[in-house]
Amino acid sequence: MTKKRLKSVALATSLTLLALACLSLSSCSNIDLGLDSETSNATVDDKKSTATTIDNTITLEQITEDVSYLASDELKGRDNFTLDIRHAADFIAKRFNEVGLTTAKSAPNFKQQYSVQRITPNTLTVEINGQAISSELLSMATTKTEFSWHSNAQENNQPVNMVMIGEDDNMRKSLRELNNQGGQHLVLLHPKHEESFKRYQSYFAQGLTKLVTKNATEQGGVIVMALTDISKAKTFSVKGNATVTDTTLSNVVGILPGKSRANEVVLYSAHYDHLGIKPSIDDTSNSQSQTPTEIYNGADDDASGVSAIINLANHFAQMGNNERTLMFAAFSAEEIGGFGSRHFSTHVEPTSITAMINIEMIGKPAMFGDGTVWMTGMDRSNLGEQLNQALAPQNLKVYADPYPKQNLFYRSDNATLARLGVPAHSFSSTQLDKDQHYHQVTDDINSLNLPSMLQVIKMLAIATTPLVDGSITPSRIDPNKVKRNGLIY
Ligand SMILES: [Zn+2]
Repeated sequence: MTKKRLKSVALATSLTLLALACLSLSSCSNIDLGLDSETSNATVDDKKSTATTIDNTITLEQITEDVSYLASDELKGRDNFTLDIRHAADFIAKRFNEVGLTTAKSAPNFKQQYSVQRITPNTLTVEINGQAISSELLSMATTKTEFSWHSNAQENNQPVNMVMIGEDDNMRKSLRELNNQGGQHLVLLHPKHEESFKRYQSYFAQGLTKLVTKNATEQGGVIVMALTDISKAKTFSVKGNATVTDTTLSNVVGILPGKSRANEVVLYSAHYDHLGIKPSIDDTSNSQSQTPTEIYNGADDDASGVSAIINLANHFAQMGNNERTLMFAAFSAEEIGGFGSRHFSTHVEPTSITAMINIEMIGKPAMFGDGTVWMTGMDRSNLGEQLNQALAPQNLKVYADPYPKQNLFYRSDNATLARLGVPAHSFSSTQLDKDQHYHQVTDDINSLNLPSMLQVIKMLAIATTPLVDGSITPSRIDPNKVKRNGLIY
């Protein structure tokens, strides 16, 4: 690479950063940067193009258009198992094409298809010491369609682990351990845990979703819970079955091929699925009648993030200075277990991903003010540090996750890639502790602060430019320090 280019690239980067700094000073395209004549000639073009670039490539008008459509009633809350989500995928693919992205081998027409299985419990009977346990005191989480267990172990095709959770035991912890083990477990749960039992019972009753992978059958397992004061099971007989429905879902993936470091990938991602439609039961009229359905538009969660990656793609496609390859992925199935990103992760070489910028809920201002953003897992790689070094000259910064107790590092798609060692973090501006709209029907376009969202997207464009042009390379995350997913639920 010739010097000038370096200079201009470097210059471009710092100019763009300057352009952003101006953001806080409202419109600034006529600011004199006081550069020397020689540079000024070069930079005037750069300045003109760069300064205006970010104002032209990431606009309030366009992000509003994108987020408004994604969060529109027309898409009915983008539920994974509906046709509506396919319309959302078509829209994102159309936008990726418009901004100039190309397709990946694993995603013809920008669609990366994968299959999931929904396993919905059907019948369950449990007898302990010859006593039948009534169904309202039973619950099962199963990835198997059929199972039959007897206290006479020879009759079981797989070992059955008998577990007692006593009144002083930590139910959540015990179940998590069984979930991490996989296999088959019969749990006798002390009645003191009734309240938590009810919560698990209704969660498990919805059924489980599993990614269809080659070795899906080996994995998985069954947990059967009986709420009982029986403390010793001398004999038992358990029979259960479930219905399996296969469904095809899609991620939407587009690429901006790199130049000098094309084999290194910077991944920008968000999830485009949400909660869909929930019939609300109106019991005021004393008759349990169906009232008009209520749509979970998911404007903030995560139509805002999807709009961000579309417009970041537009920005970098216009800039055309990405030394590294940029990948833009809109995942499905984040709300039901992150199956989109799990499938995606089987189609990339983790070591080739330099960093993952997962954008999650940036539609409303953070606690640090309009246009500010925070990231999860800042202590797990030095990406945050590096981004802040790039931003420091302009008194801008990416903050650390202000809600560490909420475990947010694990609550979005970044965790899947972090488990593979990628410096994968979510960037957000949500005030989760105060957000009245989170997973509510009121999370619609009217609840968003679009100028703040615009600033966040511009901030992310500026902050990640050193990643894009190859001037920074963050440290890897230690996969051993990232908790695994459960094998059953
Ligand atoms: Zn979300």
